[in-house]
Amino acid sequence: GMLEVHWDIDSTSSELARRIPVLDDLSFVIAEAQSAGRGRRGRTWLSPPGMNLYLSALKRFDGGFAALSGLSLAVGVMLVRALGELGIRTAGLKWPNDLLAGNAKLGGILVELSGEYSGPCAAVIGVGLNIRLPDTLHERAGQPITDLAALLGGDPPGRNRIAAAVVTELTEGLRTFDRHGFAAFADEYAASDLLRGEPLRILDPRGEYEAVGEGVDDRGALCVRRPDGVRVTVDSAEVSVRRN
Ligand code: ATP
Repeated sequence: GMLEVHWDIDSTSSELARRIPVLDDLSFVIAEAQSAGRGRRGRTWLSPPGMNLYLSALKRFDGGFAALSGLSLAVGVMLVRALGELGIRTAGLKWPNDLLAGNAKLGGILVELSGEYSGPCAAVIGVGLNIRLPDTLHERAGQPITDLAALLGGDPPGRNRIAAAVVTELTEGLRTFDRHGFAAFADEYAASDLLRGEPLRILDPRGEYEAVGEGVDDRGALCVRRPDGVRVTVDSAEVSVRRN
């Protein structure tokens, strides 16, 4: 693998995606700022220069997309581990791809797959982690957001240390995921799961409903119980979840 640091780039994930055919497995791109940082479904990841982490990793898999359900949750566990190494234990995971502290978004994960459904494929895994946000960003986010500086009372670890911890955990964790899948992360996911037992609003394009979080299944799909008692399994692609 390799690790490249860019000054300003459209998106670290776009850069890796353009170079999938020529890059080694476990290549990393970090940028100081992104002009077109992405969230899910065309949303924007605000990526000003300053002190935040914008990092993407390329990981190849032989077994196709089907084995990769739960990858975004496993990456969340890897981020929680990295923060734990730095002494930060207040972050939790909101299914399927958010890192939260309190009720505010501290970081996000974006997994993009390419290749074959049941053959060789590649995942580009984007991670945005807020270390020190400019004040002006809060109103632009459209939801509560936070950063490590606020969590730690003004004195976050240096960005190089944070980046090193994230790269180390991703390198090890993605290899483990390749061998054992989501099962190797399920217990730690459950320990960081912020939706378990919580009243939720499920925003499904086929209709919204209320439900209570009941953890995730062995593929990383969200399990919920509706008010009528019926249990439903929710896949991530089209659905958003809000805490009620
Ligand atoms: P979903 O639950 O459907 O995933 P989401 O709000 O978590 O919804 P994402 O696509 O994961 O959406 O992330 C994009 C959203 O994150 C943006 O629409 C914005 O509200 C918020 N956001 C953008 N930049 C940042 C940032 N630097 N830090 C925290 N949150 C951000």
